Parts: sequence; C-alpha cells; structure tokens
Amino acid sequence: MGSNLLLTTFPAREELGKAVKVLDAIGAAYERIDPRPALSLVALPALVMSREVRGRLETAAPTIVFSGWVDYRFAGASMPDGAAPEGEGACFRQAAIMVLGPCVADETKIRLIAHLKGDLGPVLPYLNAVIPQASYSPTAEILTFMEGYRMIALYRHRITIAKADEIVDGWLTLERIRCLVEHTWAGRSQIEPSFEIRKRPPALEIFKRLPRTNCGRCGEPTCLAFAMRLWTGESSVGRCLPVFEEGGAASHLKEALIEICAGMGLTAVNQ
Ligand code: SF4
Repeated sequence: MGSNLLLTTFPAREELGKAVKVLDAIGAAYERIDPRPALSLVALPALVMSREVRGRLETAAPTIVFSGWVDYRFAGASMPDGAAPEGEGACFRQAAIMVLGPCVADETKIRLIAHLKGDLGPVLPYLNAVIPQASYSPTAEILTFMEGYRMIALYRHRITIAKADEIVDGWLTLERIRCLVEHTWAGRSQIEPSFEIRKRPPALEIFKRLPRTNCGRCGEPTCLAFAMRLWTGESSVGRCLPVFEEGGAASHLKEALIEICAGMGLTAVNQ
C-alpha cells in the first residue's frame, strides 16, 4: 500500500468485526494493525485503507461506528513483546478509543480520547503527588501533564492525549498511563495524596496563547484568570471574543487555542 492512506480505530470490537466483514464482502484492500498482547487493555486492532475504500465502506455500511480517521503514518515506535497484562487493575481496568483525529495545529500528530471502564477519581490526588509537573483541579477532577511533547489529561472516566505521533505511539502512551495509574494505586499507602493546585502548565500554556490584553470581555479581570477558569473547566474558550468573534482582533490565535484546549480534553466547551 502506498501513501495517501487513512487509519481508523473502533470504539468496540463488534464495530471492527462489522467493518472487516463488509470490506471482505466488497473485496476491498485494507491492512490490519494488531496490537501485541501486552497492549490488550488499551488497544483494539486498527485498519488502514485508501480514501476510496473508506468511501465504499461507509456507503456499504453507514451504521458502523468509527473512532475517527487520521492519515496513516508508519509507526516509529515498536510494540513490546510479552504477555497480556495480568487482570484489569481496579482504577483503570480497560480503555477504548472513542475519538481519534489529527491535532488541530499540528496535523502531523494525532489526538485521541479514550473512555475507561474504571474510575480514576480516587487515584488522581496520588498521581498529583508523584507527577512533578502535573496540574490538578480537585473540583473538576482533572489532572493534566505533559509527557515529552504529548499533552495528557486524566478525568475520572476518560483520558485525552494530544500530539501522539501515530496510533502505536497513542497505544503505548495509554499503556504507560495505565501502568502508572495501577502502580501508584498499589503503592498509595506510601504516598501522601496531594490536593495542591499548581499554577504551572498547562494553565500557563493556555495563557501563553491568549491575547494577553486583559480586556475583560470574557468576564474575567485578566487573561491569566481566564486561563485558570478554562483549565478547571469552569469557562468556555469561546468567551474570549477577541479570538473567537467574527473578524476578531486576535483571531490568528484561534487554532492554537483550540489545539491546546483539545489537548487538555476541553473540547466539550462551546467554542
Ligand atoms: S476576553 Fe480574551 S483577551 Fe480579553 S481578558 Fe478575556 S482572555 Fe484576555
């Protein structure tokens, strides 16, 4: 298969099964990327196909649910050998990728939203204690941190990752988070939970992308206050009118703001 290919994942194994069946029935070419057993709690097989085959598949079976589509890129990272993880941990359990798409400001990277069977709520204060650069909002129950250039946000029942290289990198990142969560939870008797709200990134990362004029049109006295409210999920990025109104004086910042908010899982707010 050449370039110009698309990759998709599925929120559930049944949807993958339906897609494979239809592709085989219409005799379309595709490739399947199977995660190794070591990633079995965070990944389902992905499919790679041409745009033309995608069109035929969606026409033949319009009800199949895909996580999303991204340009296919060869995986730089290799998957680990080894057996599947032993049992599902209490906090994380299993992840299913519900949303997959390109990063808004960097289309060479991907973003994904994974829903969890487990509940990260109880482990977040412990993770806040062990991840030095994490930012935690106890009221919104969100923990955000950077892992290299990847932006990660942990919620009780979902995880968002922005700027992953490609799907295998996304799977590996999810698996690292899973291991960190379970390891931290298992060792919690030795950890002092932290409810500290650090005014470090990512709130500052949002702030850096705002107009920084402190005009007050968002209802906050300063851009920094607005960034903090955004990060805790208490405001909507669209309230920064200089960026989001038609012909706004700072509309050039729009993509970068959407990108950083998406990376923190703040896409649900009205933009
Ligand atoms: S509307 Fe935008 S530019 Fe004005 S204070 Fe709020 S965040 Fe800053």
